[in-house]
Amino acid sequence: MKILFATPECAPYVKTGGLGDVSAALPAMLANLGHDVHLLLPAYRGMKVSGEIGDGVELPAYGPWPAAQLVPVKAPNGVTLLLLACPALYQRAGGPYVDESGNDYADNALRFGLLARVAAQLGTVQSPLPGWTADVVHANDWPCALAPLYLAQARALPLQQPTAASVLTIHNLAFRGLFPMDAADLLGIPYHWRGIDGVEFWGQLSMLKAGLQFADAITTVSPSYAREIQTEAHGVGLDGMLRARADRLHGILNGIDTGIWNPATDPLLPHRYGRDSMQGKSLNKKALQVRSGLPTEGRAPLFAVVSRLTQQKGVDLVLGALPRLLAAGSQLVVLGQGEPALQEALTRAAQEYPRQIAVTLGFDEGLAHLIEAGADAFLMPSRFEPCGLNQLYSQAYGTPPIVAPVGGLRDSVTDATADPAHGTGFVMASPDAAGLDEALQRALRAWREPPQWRKLQVNGMARHFGWEDSAKAYLAVYEQAISAAL
Ligand code: ADP
Repeated sequence: MKILFATPECAPYVKTGGLGDVSAALPAMLANLGHDVHLLLPAYRGMKVSGEIGDGVELPAYGPWPAAQLVPVKAPNGVTLLLLACPALYQRAGGPYVDESGNDYADNALRFGLLARVAAQLGTVQSPLPGWTADVVHANDWPCALAPLYLAQARALPLQQPTAASVLTIHNLAFRGLFPMDAADLLGIPYHWRGIDGVEFWGQLSMLKAGLQFADAITTVSPSYAREIQTEAHGVGLDGMLRARADRLHGILNGIDTGIWNPATDPLLPHRYGRDSMQGKSLNKKALQVRSGLPTEGRAPLFAVVSRLTQQKGVDLVLGALPRLLAAGSQLVVLGQGEPALQEALTRAAQEYPRQIAVTLGFDEGLAHLIEAGADAFLMPSRFEPCGLNQLYSQAYGTPPIVAPVGGLRDSVTDATADPAHGTGFVMASPDAAGLDEALQRALRAWREPPQWRKLQVNGMARHFGWEDSAKAYLAVYEQAISAAL
């Protein structure tokens, strides 16, 4: 199958969250399963790619868009990267979506409109890449979500030619890609698709809604989240639309890239270890304590958070649980960045309890690995969680996670009390302060019983979190989308 995977971020080139990891691992696994996978990604500033660089293709200026170039790079993992080079839109200081002060770029509609438009073109007979047209265009999140609409538009042309099927994956429904409706002119969205049955969302244009309307199949990153987003409580105003398309909506749990996240081979760890040789984990705990400026106390349970610091991630719940953690003599290591109020509250707590709490603000891949390996338990009390990756890494690293009963967290962690034989962590009874407090008490009790704790660690480390099964589930969805598009 010829698959175009369109994404605004892809590790290790550019990553702000889970989508970056998925974009690295899923296309590589699809290529490994024998498919022809091209990955379309904007060429942001400072991005370093390795591989065999092919001849660039010129994309002429069109409507509001300046001329651009498509540069194919054959990556070592079997995927062909298609770098969308348009310096005026993508070569900037700041991240993929926001400037250096954290504000959305004012021209995001154009920036990601181009990404979606080129993705769609690669699925038509007018494909800019000589000799290559996708069978399926897999668009990810709002930045690519106009691609299904553009494909539907191409299908509707007189003398229509067959086009690729379209699949949209929702990695986080909370980001709806909202713009003033004026942007519809710039983006070339036909008038008859600007209403409630098209892209309109409470008077604005929602790129994500366009994808939900027009994609031949929709997926999201866990079965529980697929159900939750069809309810008013978690549907952020799109639940009605998702219920209407429920027959096209699939929940497929993310895997992890075991080439990168494996404690036995992880080059970012000072000490490697496995299920049968856990000494390395205690040494990593010491290394983490030293790096964090905490006393190298082996018996103090070391809890950890690696996360965007937002309400979604329940960081305020972690702050609320500090009295319980401190009273139990625990240590807490936090790595993250995000909402200023949460950053400040965490920094204050670390100043007040320097022997028990250490906070690092920023994005640090190496420290994230050391934390997964060196911590005893991982905290993830998210209010909602489409899939979540850190609870998967935690289990693979023998660091039992304490998680909220939502989305992918509930789908990937087995509660130690409910199922002592297979437990891999602690699932809160409710996604709130009381739920976290109760789960922490259970975790602290288990920590004081080393054989019980060891069982939890071993159960987690024995789990298979690789991508192969999920990649096959995506292939089945692609097949369905192709039949639906005929
Ligand atoms: P989300 O995509 O909602 O942010 P996920 O758990 O799906 O959450 O994925 C987050 C990814 O980003 C993980 O790979 C995690 O290790 C990484 N990450 C998050 N914050 C940081 C940080 N401050 N430093 C390093 N890695 C981080």
